[in-house]
Amino acid sequence: MYARVVIVGQAGQIEQLTYVIPPALAGRVTTGHRVLVPIRSRRMTGLVVDICDKLEAGIAAPKAILELLESRPLFDRAHLQLIEFLATYYMVPISEAYRSVIPAIARVESRRLFKPGRAPDALAHATLTPLEHSILNSLAKRPLSARQIRMLGDAQEADTALARLCADGLAEVFDATRGRHRAATAAIVRLRDGSLSAKMRGRVQREILARLIAAEPHGLTLSKLEEDFPGARAAVRAMAQRGLAEIISDDSAAVIADSAPAKPGMPDGDATTANGAQLPADHFASGPDFDLTWEQKAAIGEAAPAIRERRSQAFLLWGVTASGKTEIYLQLAAIALAAGRQVLVLVPEIALADQVVKAFTMRFGRLAGVAHSAQNVSERWSNWMDALSGRSRIMIGPRSAVFAPLNDLGLIVVDEEHDTAYKQEEGIRYNARDLAVVLGRFSNAPVVLGSATPSAESYANARRGRYRMIRLANRAGTREFAAVEVIDLREHMKDDQPLKDAQISAASTAPPPSSANPASADGAVPLTVPLIAALRENLAAGGQSVVFLNRRGYHNFLQCHLCGNVIACPNCSVSLTFHLRDRTIRCHYCGANSTAPELCPACRGYGLQGQGYGTERLADALAELLPAARIERMDSDTSGRRGARAAIIEALKRGEIDILAGTQMITKGFDFPGVTLVVVVMADLALNLPDFRSAERTFQLLTQVAGRAGRGDRPGRVLIQTYAPHHYSIRAARDQDYARFMRRELELRREMMYPPYARLAMVRVEGEDAARVAEIASKAASTLAHDAKPDGLRLLGPAPAPIERIKRRYRWQVMVKSTELKELRNALAVMRTAIAPIAERTAVRLTIDIDPINML
Ligand SMILES: [Zn+2]
Ligand SMILES: [Zn+2]
Repeated sequence: MYARVVIVGQAGQIEQLTYVIPPALAGRVTTGHRVLVPIRSRRMTGLVVDICDKLEAGIAAPKAILELLESRPLFDRAHLQLIEFLATYYMVPISEAYRSVIPAIARVESRRLFKPGRAPDALAHATLTPLEHSILNSLAKRPLSARQIRMLGDAQEADTALARLCADGLAEVFDATRGRHRAATAAIVRLRDGSLSAKMRGRVQREILARLIAAEPHGLTLSKLEEDFPGARAAVRAMAQRGLAEIISDDSAAVIADSAPAKPGMPDGDATTANGAQLPADHFASGPDFDLTWEQKAAIGEAAPAIRERRSQAFLLWGVTASGKTEIYLQLAAIALAAGRQVLVLVPEIALADQVVKAFTMRFGRLAGVAHSAQNVSERWSNWMDALSGRSRIMIGPRSAVFAPLNDLGLIVVDEEHDTAYKQEEGIRYNARDLAVVLGRFSNAPVVLGSATPSAESYANARRGRYRMIRLANRAGTREFAAVEVIDLREHMKDDQPLKDAQISAASTAPPPSSANPASADGAVPLTVPLIAALRENLAAGGQSVVFLNRRGYHNFLQCHLCGNVIACPNCSVSLTFHLRDRTIRCHYCGANSTAPELCPACRGYGLQGQGYGTERLADALAELLPAARIERMDSDTSGRRGARAAIIEALKRGEIDILAGTQMITKGFDFPGVTLVVVVMADLALNLPDFRSAERTFQLLTQVAGRAGRGDRPGRVLIQTYAPHHYSIRAARDQDYARFMRRELELRREMMYPPYARLAMVRVEGEDAARVAEIASKAASTLAHDAKPDGLRLLGPAPAPIERIKRRYRWQVMVKSTELKELRNALAVMRTAIAPIAERTAVRLTIDIDPINML
């Protein structure tokens, strides 16, 4: 038998190879297995994608698979199809798709390295050439590969020298294996051929030999041998070194041990497996006492049959904030578990999904595995192994969890499906929300996409009947919607002299300017009279307030009032943000940071002044206006450390915080009954971005923020400050009317030919040389325009990206729109074939982003 194997490691142009399945592994290798295979002089990890009994014509006699890395296949058919889809849809080679899916820790690779052999005697020493000397000296420091040795001199001479050194025994070659590939697995000892005729040294070795002969052909675990013979480990190692015994790892021991006690002998994947049989259908639901709303009951009733009937069907669960979506996920998950199947729950960011994670772990205990992005690789891998072995039956995780080896999926949940965090912005730019829908199709499982503000794409899919819409129009319990008021900043900022007392002395780094610098619109945080009054009122009534501003830092940027210079990032085409706490200026794109200068770098004068505001300044301004209030700030500056965010949330819960100011981090995953006032300082920030989704983003953000208010018994109040009170997204947010917003938004998208009415791709061109980047971008655009059928494609660009330079790289882009996906992809493929080689030669990076999210 033969196996088609996709090579997961770096193997040049090689994508797939055919290998012989050796007799020892006969019947054990199936598709989806992770294997170790020889490739040239190395050993690498591969994934079996096909088994066949005949060789294709023209293929030379293949090598044999070396090792099976797990006893169970890592991926089932559905996941193999998903990875194939990943490669095709996002236009990447299949080996790259596998490489990005399989965690680095699971990629075993070996290299042939050279080390010193016997020490040269005087005669040998005298005849060494200078190059041979230098090779031996380098090898004495650390082992080197042939490629590294070639760099020590002329490549050909080095090869000859190395060959001679090896022939003389002065250098030796050995195999070094990198990467740990087995989780907690049992080491098994087996005899090798020929060991019976060899002479065993010592009593322990002889006794081990006798035991191993008795245990043929399965072998014994090393731990068992150690129990019976102290010193067994050393003896086995000595035997292995002499080639008499071999130590192999086998995870099947752990797998069998786990499922055996319940019902041994049940086949995997059966609907009533050992694990499933332990879970009666009402086991979880009957635990705590729930009173579900009729809407929740109806929603569960809609989706449950699809789970039971193994039917792939996508549901859009459009439920207003606090309508109890999580409880629906939990109930559906219990149904899937009761059917003996596994559940995948995707969340945008695991660190901000405390509530969902807590709800699942409280209901399902250790059956729910959580894949943190902060976990180290081996933790993440052991998470995967838990899912693979069935120890955990639910996997909750961020976008990469869509590839976790859950081999009998019964339900997929995508929480907050509209969230842009599902889009991967480096490597393969996939969208996990979209892949989840595809995975549901391949594994015959229903997919539930939940959101209070579904994305335009998902909403359109529901309207077209591709997804089934489930609505939750009412909040759970007796909780009322908060009343939303819009404050027109144009009226309040023009005459009010924006609240003299609201102004914090401009924390410029220079001595204060001589003239009474008026607080022009640039200056202070726009905290209007009604806003302050509402905060005071709520404070007096003992309520908690949330103040939202989607910008970090103290000042937006520093500008010199003498020469007009704005301090910009040396690496990016953006200004640096001033942070007061440590008096630094930082780039929010590349992370560059330095101490804020005293002098203007351009004119050497004391003219630097802070302009604009962020959350840090907002918190200061609030503290000055409301000295009695206990104020906390939450943004990625304050909650960078692990646990800092949790501490703030706990304090808020205990009522130790009156006002929480923060970025969009505070809009997610909060459910605090004490929060009765929510304030949006400036709703226009997201609205003014050059992005066709900016209105959608603004509406989503405002709805999410507003949803934080009034989750307890007392009704909530929401104030939104804006310079654009008549914009349709702000008016719809005020009226909490998603459907009206989406109607208008979809009309505009149709007119402008944007998704969901067109397929979109972004060709990104990046490099350090501005002229070359521009040149490649226009070549790419003209190729697309000429070679592709022009009537089906629309091009925008080439043009510099809105942020023209990030991390010292100039960025251009060409946007391509089409109504036909196939046509779009063909045109892009033709363009890439023509342009990629030129780009590569000139050190310019050309990437294709399908269904782009980031327009900046
Ligand atoms: Zn200056
Ligand atoms: Zn920067």
